[in-house]
Amino acid sequence: MRVAILGAGPAGLYLGYLLKRRYKNADVRIFEQNRADATFGFGVVFSDRALEFLNEDDPETYQAISPLLESWRDITLVHRGERIAIDGIGFAAIGRLQLLRFLQKRARDAGVEQVYERPVATLPELADVDLIVGADGVNSLVRRTYADRLDASVEYLNNRFAWFGAAKEFSTLTQTFCEADGGFFNAHHYRYQPGMSTFIVETDAETFAKGGFETMNEQETIVRCERIFADALDGTRLISNHSIWRRFPVVRCGRWSEKNCVIIGDAAHTAHFSIGSGTRLAMEDAIALDRALADGGGNIGQSLERYESARRPVLDKIVNGAVASAGWYENFPEHMQRAPLDFAMSYITRSGRIEPDKLRRLSPGFVAQYEASGRVLN
Ligand SMILES: Cc1cc2nc3c(=O)[nH]c(=O)nc-3n(C[C@H](O)[C@H](O)[C@H](O)COP(=O)(O)OP(=O)(O)OC[C@H]3O[C@@H](n4cnc5c(N)ncnc54)[C@H](O)[C@@H]3O)c2cc1C
Repeated sequence: MRVAILGAGPAGLYLGYLLKRRYKNADVRIFEQNRADATFGFGVVFSDRALEFLNEDDPETYQAISPLLESWRDITLVHRGERIAIDGIGFAAIGRLQLLRFLQKRARDAGVEQVYERPVATLPELADVDLIVGADGVNSLVRRTYADRLDASVEYLNNRFAWFGAAKEFSTLTQTFCEADGGFFNAHHYRYQPGMSTFIVETDAETFAKGGFETMNEQETIVRCERIFADALDGTRLISNHSIWRRFPVVRCGRWSEKNCVIIGDAAHTAHFSIGSGTRLAMEDAIALDRALADGGGNIGQSLERYESARRPVLDKIVNGAVASAGWYENFPEHMQRAPLDFAMSYITRSGRIEPDKLRRLSPGFVAQYEASGRVLN
C-alpha cells in the first residue's frame, strides 16, 4: 500500500505511525510545508478523559507521552477579582512543539518518511498512490479541492483571540475574566512545561473594535494585553509567536472522503479551543482510520465508508459540545453580569454535557460552596 499524507500535525504524524506499525511493508510518506521545528501557538491541553482514548487504544504511546505532561485536577475561574476553584475537572498539557517532536520521532522510528518544507500545491502531484490523506489542517488543500463533493463550509466566530506564551507557571488551568478600558476580556492560561504557560487572550468583537486593536502593531498589542492582565501576569511579560488576532474557524463537512482521498483532524472539523479537544480529535481520527483500513481488507472505498460511519457519531457529540461552549464564549460579556458563583455555574455547564448529578459527582467541593451560599443546584 502506498499512502501520501499531507500535513505533519498531530493527525498526520500519528496516522503515519499507526499505519506503518500495522503495515510494515507499506510506503507511508508525510509531506509538510513547514520546517520540522516550526509551529504556531505554545502549549495545548487535553482533558483527563481526552487521554483515556490513548490509554485504551495505544498504551505504549500513552506510557511514553505521560512523563512529558503537566497535569492538574481543578480549574480556577477568576471573575471580579474573586477566584473560584472548580474541582475534579482535570486537564493535562504539553507544548505543541514538544508533542510534534515526540510524534515525529515515533513515526520516524516506525519507518515513516517525513518530507519537510514540501508544500503540496495540487493533488495530481500525489497521483501515484493508493490513498491520499488530508491531515492538512484548517486550510486543507484536500478539502478545498473537493469542497462541493464534501459539502464543506468554514464560518468564523466573532470573538478575537491571540495565542501568547508567558514564562510563568500557573498552578491550574485558569480562566481570568476582566473588564478594562470599557470592554471585556478573557485569558485562558495554563502551564504546559516547567516555567512556561500558554496565555490566550480573547475579547468580543465590540471591545476589539472600540479598543483600536485592529490598528495596533504586535508590540502595542502585547503592552495593552499585559496591562489588562497585570494581576494575572504579576510582572511576567507575554511572549509572541506570530500571535496575531484571529477569529476561530468552524469547519464542517457533510462527507469526509472522495475517491481515494480522505480528510482527518482540523481539515475535516474543528472544535473550539475552550474544550481542549482539537488535538485529541485529530489523533482519534487517525486511530479510527487506521482501524477502518484494517477492517476494509484492502478495499480503500469500503474502508473510507466504514471510517466515516464509525467515527462520525462519536465525533458529533464532542463537536456539539464545542459549538455550545464556543457560543457561551461568544456571549461572555453578558455572562459576566452574573455574580462570581452564578458565573462559575454558567461556565461549567456551558456545553450542556454536565447534568447536576454528574457535577455533584465530579466537583463536590464546588457544589458544596455553591449550595452553602443558599443557591439550589438544579
Ligand atoms: C488558539 C488555539 C488554541 C488551541 N488549544 C488547543 C488545546 O488546548 N488543546 C487541543 O487539543 N487543541 C487545541 N487547539 C486545536 C489544535 O491546535 C488542532 O485541533 C490540532 O492542531 C489539529 O491537528 P491537525 O493535525 O488536524 O492539524 P494541524 O495541527 O493544523 O496540522 C496541519 C499541518 O498541515 C500542514 N499543511 C497544510 N497544508 C499543507 C500543504 N498543502 N502541503 C503540505 N503541508 C500542509 C500545516 O503546515 C500543518 O503543519 C487549539 C487551536 C487554537 C487555534
